[in-house]
Amino acid sequence: MSANAAEPKPSESSANATAKILLDEEQQQKIIARLAAVGATGPCLRCGNPHLEIQNGIVKDVLQDTSSQAAPSPGAHVSFAPLVSLVCKRCGFVLQHNLGILGFVKDGKIEI
Ligand SMILES: [Zn+2]
Repeated sequence: MSANAAEPKPSESSANATAKILLDEEQQQKIIARLAAVGATGPCLRCGNPHLEIQNGIVKDVLQDTSSQAAPSPGAHVSFAPLVSLVCKRCGFVLQHNLGILGFVKDGKIEI
């Protein structure tokens, strides 16, 4: 295999940044176990496929300030709901669970 000079190489810092935001295997298994404990083991809501895959990252869903129609501006205080996603391996439908409800947010920090 020959090297392609035009192909971008990931820098050391971006590789480290990526590693920090990903859920490791142990964290994913803890989430899956918690979902099973609360009975959240059903199939895809769209196509019925029982094979859902946990995504190895946390989604931060912005909570809109309902007192204003303005979108949050950069640097403005915004609240987030920490979500974990499950993706259907057949149709791509995404299901999300709030990590706070699942007990993984303590004192405002995500602890899995
Ligand atoms: Zn599906």
